[in-house]
Amino acid sequence: MLADLWRLNRRLKRLRCPVCNADEPAEILRRDRYLLDVRLSVCRTCGTTYLARGLAGETASAFYGGIYQRLMRTADASPALIGAQRLAAGYRAHVLRYVIGPLDEVLDIGTGLGFFLDACRQSGSRSYHGIEPGPVQRHFAEDELGLGGHVDGDGLDAARALSFRPRIVTLFHVLEHLEDPGSVLALAAGWLPPDGWLVIEVPDVSEWAGLGLQHVHVSHRSYFTPETLGILLARHGFAIHRQDREEHGIHPGNLRIFARPGAAGDDRIPGVDAEALAAESRRRIEAFDVRKGYPRAAFRLLRLATGR
Ligand SMILES: [Zn+2]
Repeated sequence: MLADLWRLNRRLKRLRCPVCNADEPAEILRRDRYLLDVRLSVCRTCGTTYLARGLAGETASAFYGGIYQRLMRTADASPALIGAQRLAAGYRAHVLRYVIGPLDEVLDIGTGLGFFLDACRQSGSRSYHGIEPGPVQRHFAEDELGLGGHVDGDGLDAARALSFRPRIVTLFHVLEHLEDPGSVLALAAGWLPPDGWLVIEVPDVSEWAGLGLQHVHVSHRSYFTPETLGILLARHGFAIHRQDREEHGIHPGNLRIFARPGAAGDDRIPGVDAEALAAESRRRIEAFDVRKGYPRAAFRLLRLATGR
């Protein structure tokens, strides 16, 4: 495991800002929770927090097909953890029904184990489909939840087949993992009708204190706040309709955005003091704290590597 992480570290590439494409990072921290050299930074142009060094192209697909599953312990997830995901999905479906109405024509990008689709089906949805690149998760959705035919692992591009035109596109804790989040929002904008909905959940990094170094992770390339996510959405023709923030539950500092096509909001980038933002984030992450910083991260890494 440690050798694989070392090899991965050598394959990481310099990355541009996923929101504005600038290459002007103000560094917060050099290393992530696996001690990989990811250069967590604030973009000097738009103020987005992102990894200035990370996964790109084939390294990314190889990572998600291999070492990511081991780091996340996907194969031996405990029944309690799986149960928590089922509850979270039911709660999401409930909130979405409250805001949107009936959940039909749902396309769930990054569907994971499939519990949200299962909740849509239970609430009477006739058309629902999930896209999940991880084979372990996909097989769980198909075999354990009986979602065969409603999940695929095909790539996300304009040429991919859809069995129905989605009215609701959901991305729950997915956008922050994508190499080019804007291209996926552009696809969603092309699919959705004018009365459609885009629902996104990401961790909100307006407040790093509740997240900490554990959240600085090679697979998280973008770290959004309501402001930076709003800029990205506006650039792709979406206006924010509603936002919810839940401190606890699904994820610490969970941010849920309901956006709709058209009437794009203001996508101008306000002036940012990236150095001050980086310093403030560094202070709140407390990366050198014994209990929650690098010492703890190194200890967990050793436990993971020795399989305990
Ligand atoms: Zn930027």
